Amino acid sequence: MQERISRHAVIHYGEISLKGRNRPFFERALSHAIAQRLEDLGLQQVERLSGRMIVHLEQPLGATTWAERLGTVFGIANFSLAYLADPDMDALRAAILELLPANPPASFRVRASRDDKTFPLTSPEIERDLGAAVYEHTQWPVQLKDAALVIQVEVLRHHAILSFEKIEGPGGLPVGASGRVGLLLSGGIDSPVAGLMLLKRGCHVIPIHFHSRPFGNWMGSEARSREIVRTLLPYGIEPFFYTVPIGRQQREITVQIPDTYRVILYRRLMVRIAERLTRREKGKALVTGESLGQVASQTLEGIAAVEQAASMPILRPLVGMDKKEIVAIAERIGTYPLSLMEGDDCCQFLMPRSVVTRPRLEQVLDIEARTEMDRLVEEALEQAKKQRV
Ligand code: ATP
Ligand code: MG
Repeated sequence: MQERISRHAVIHYGEISLKGRNRPFFERALSHAIAQRLEDLGLQQVERLSGRMIVHLEQPLGATTWAERLGTVFGIANFSLAYLADPDMDALRAAILELLPANPPASFRVRASRDDKTFPLTSPEIERDLGAAVYEHTQWPVQLKDAALVIQVEVLRHHAILSFEKIEGPGGLPVGASGRVGLLLSGGIDSPVAGLMLLKRGCHVIPIHFHSRPFGNWMGSEARSREIVRTLLPYGIEPFFYTVPIGRQQREITVQIPDTYRVILYRRLMVRIAERLTRREKGKALVTGESLGQVASQTLEGIAAVEQAASMPILRPLVGMDKKEIVAIAERIGTYPLSLMEGDDCCQFLMPRSVVTRPRLEQVLDIEARTEMDRLVEEALEQAKKQRV
């Protein structure tokens, strides 16, 4: 069967229509995100109407391509391919008959709305008129409630819009609607998924990657995190990342403290640096891919011992998820295979055989006092690089 193609789509948003006075702000964020996602396809306009948007392209696209593109734009509840017609009944009747799907649906109805109240027919009259035309032409059964096919007609001042099957969008809030966060992005499976969750809730996400330069395969680690950021670009992640070499700082920490506390101090170092970079970018929170109890360092005590070093909130969107659930998302968004790329994780660098699972905060502070933590943070920050991906 030939798929539907069109130059236009009508977009419906879910949650953002609930936001009252903030609505124009959310709508701007969504229209900006849509424009960015379709930029390379000859975008003409994202037209904002009350409660929905119409996207106009220069060239028609197939339904599959539309779905691929708009499927990564958070804030879209659903959308339909759409067609423009002149806002008069003869033109609408002709257009609707021409555009009917080839496969007969179990039932249908026409749903009309008018933004232009000077149009001579009311919405119910438009519905009856066009419904009768479709029925005469096809004999398809009419059903007003839960029809299998809803033909949507929207009459505006200069044109009318016809749309048919709805395609699900990804939901969530448009990127930009909720502020900015710094993502601690390792090369693992979890942190890209954590980043996705915050994109979905409308945040600009700034990736920050630590590697063990000048030791180990830090280049592999950096290349892997770059690929991960690239893979998340369609979802609206920032098109750059920070890389911070901390190999020397890690080595210094290891000679000064008991080895079971290394990982906690590495993390406290990372969190402090990430916070400084995030603040530089006007971000207000950090995000990690931690999930409670997943590894020895992710106990409540471990989390508390790291969190104490931060002054921003640390968001952990995966905290209640099983590895299997996280892997399923990573596979769907394409970051899973990248975690298998070569490269040394800096937390594995100088990794002790055992890690303290129930650290006591006083003890952590006591141990950290043996290091010159402030200097280590400053030195690492001097080496931090902001790179385009
Ligand atoms: P991931 O799969 O995200 O690496 P993980 O299950 O391997 O997570 P850890 O290695 O304990 O867990 O790391 C916990 C979190 O700490 C990561 O999700 C990430 O947010 C952060 N993190 C760890 N290593 C790095 C790194 N090298 N650079 C940036 N953030 C890191
Ligand atoms: Mg990891």
